[in-house]
Amino acid sequence: MTIKCLGIESTAHTFGAGVVEFKTNFKILSNQKHSYFPKNGIKPDLAAQHHLKYSEKITNTALEAAKTKIQDIDIIAFSIGPGLAPCLIEGLKYSKNLASKYKKPFIEVNHCIAHIEIAKEITKCKSDFVVVFVSGGNSQILSKINNNYKIFGETQDIAVGNAIDKFARFANLGFPGGPLIEKLAKGGKYIDLPYCTKGCDFSFTGVITAAEKKIKKNKIQNICFSLQQVLFCSICECAERILGHLSINNLLLCGGVARNKTLQKILKTMTQERCAKFFCVPDEFAGDNGAMIAIAGIKNYINKTNCFFNKDISKINIFPKLRID
Ligand code: ATP
Repeated sequence: MTIKCLGIESTAHTFGAGVVEFKTNFKILSNQKHSYFPKNGIKPDLAAQHHLKYSEKITNTALEAAKTKIQDIDIIAFSIGPGLAPCLIEGLKYSKNLASKYKKPFIEVNHCIAHIEIAKEITKCKSDFVVVFVSGGNSQILSKINNNYKIFGETQDIAVGNAIDKFARFANLGFPGGPLIEKLAKGGKYIDLPYCTKGCDFSFTGVITAAEKKIKKNKIQNICFSLQQVLFCSICECAERILGHLSINNLLLCGGVARNKTLQKILKTMTQERCAKFFCVPDEFAGDNGAMIAIAGIKNYINKTNCFFNKDISKINIFPKLRID
């Protein structure tokens, strides 16, 4: 059986469309996206307008790049949450119309699961694993127990990507903050910042406030270096504890913040010291994208979960606060 899926992503700043084919393996045929990156952070209504403007163009480009006509697509997958409600509504309207017009089954996808599934498929990390999922809106450490994802550690306040973006905004560095802070951190020296983990959970608001207060009297390079160390080492400490508790020897890193080379190095060193294996999603598929929604959609379709046909498509809704568990 061959399944060709068009995956559509619109949970936050990015409108993405990707085409994935499944025979015995997943083959990503295309992955197109356009992001709304305003200097002062995302305004949900404006992000939704961005998605309205780009939805058709990005979808058509993805189909063309995959050398596929919409008529040849078997299923349409859409990420129903978690995310920003106005962005989700715009994406849902667009995908529902497409599924109804071309009479395609509509598959609901959990955005967080999609981040993990694409990382797992591309890196071939298939046995027991612990996932460090770090993005703009989520920071969780999970594992799959009895075929369901369970969260073993997570942020007690904001996600690490949001924390980094918040600091960057305060320091007038621009948005998204992650790549800019990573660049500035090179050559920086450590200055003291608060470090907060509790058991397998971590918290980031305190360190961001402290870093903001240090801006006037310290070099920005030193603050960026120290911020990365504190944020990423706290995630690493909890990930190591969870690997130990579960006696698991595979660690998978995914989500937009997975692009950070310092975070990758810290986690790689920790896994090497435990004789465990480290897997990391490639940069191109780390942030929000349509191909990840297509992969998760095909898996749901094969498992006959979250699939809607014909008239039932009108009943589908968004879930801005959807959890992975
Ligand atoms: P979610 O996936 O939870 O809905 P999102 O849509 O904001 O959140 P992604 O596209 O997965 O997330 O990632 C965006 C985040 O990744 C931003 O917070 C950005 O600053 C961060 N990021 C991107 N590149 C880097 C980097 N090199 N280092 C650190 N953070 C980075």
